[in-house]
Amino acid sequence: AKDIGRGEHCFFDPAMQEAISQRLLLEEDIVRGLAAKEFGVYFQPQFNDEHQLIGVESLVRWHHFERGLLSPFAFIEVAEAAGIMKKIDEVVMLRACEQMAAWSTVAGLSDITVSINVSPAQLYQTGFVEEVLAVVKQTGADLRRLKLEITESMLVTDMNQAISRMRELKAAGIRFSIDDFGTGYSSLQYLQQLPLDQLKIDQSFVRGLPEDASSLAIIRAVIAMAHSLGLEVIAEGVETQTQRDILLANGCQLYQGYLYAKPLPAAKIAELVAINND
Ligand code: C2E
Ligand code: CA
Ligand code: CA
Ligand code: CA
Repeated sequence: AKDIGRGEHCFFDPAMQEAISQRLLLEEDIVRGLAAKEFGVYFQPQFNDEHQLIGVESLVRWHHFERGLLSPFAFIEVAEAAGIMKKIDEVVMLRACEQMAAWSTVAGLSDITVSINVSPAQLYQTGFVEEVLAVVKQTGADLRRLKLEITESMLVTDMNQAISRMRELKAAGIRFSIDDFGTGYSSLQYLQQLPLDQLKIDQSFVRGLPEDASSLAIIRAVIAMAHSLGLEVIAEGVETQTQRDILLANGCQLYQGYLYAKPLPAAKIAELVAINND
């Protein structure tokens, strides 16, 4: 064994050491990327049953100078753990609101909703409500067309705090969607207390269609629940016409997924609408 000095760690696991330094490097790289303005937003179209574009979901992307286009899976976990997700959230909120304002004069895009994913830290951060309203005001975005996506798992930290913040934003005109629905600790009791407008069926259930009977059973239950609560339902991760047909037959009228379009840069969204208007 290597002779190590007093006070130094006796255990040296090269793999663990490597993982830790990788995380630290990524953390530093995120900070650098933010300063270099490498973070941006893609928008994924959402359609109704008549194939009309009714909204987009904002999805963060990292245009890394060396590694290319990076999906959130490559950095969100580390950014959250390091407490720097807040900076990324700010970029997304600003970009999405700026884009909504820019689209407000474009035919086919002036009425669409723009959804934004809220991170757990963001929801509980002091001044969250004020910050959202300030960005909306500063950019000239339309409050009533802004939709915030929250997940069930975010609510467990402090349900009362979450509910009161959501209600404040709701009172101002902002809408709420519950994302990845059915994957967390769903309880009908809390659903009733939240000022929701939309329920989003998680893609894991959509992926089960058409073969998996339990996915279909869950989807049916979710749609029935949404309708009885007066909420709109959207399915995400819709990849095939068969999935879309089953969803439609069961009463789901809004869709998002590769069958329709992948997340796209803002300019491509405008092109998509221009083509459809021809
Ligand atoms: P999510 O909110 O559930 O977003 C849907 C994810 O599914 C997106 O991945 C989207 O690109 C992908 N997707 C869309 N259609 C299909 C499809 O037909 N098939 C399949 N297999 N996938 C599809 P993305 O953009 O990589 O984002 C992953 C997750 O990262 C998001 O899941 C969300 O939880 C998080 N995320 C993304 N952008 C943001 C952001 O700006 N802020 C925060 N806090 N989280 C974000
Ligand atoms: Ca989402
Ligand atoms: Ca989702
Ligand atoms: Ca998801």
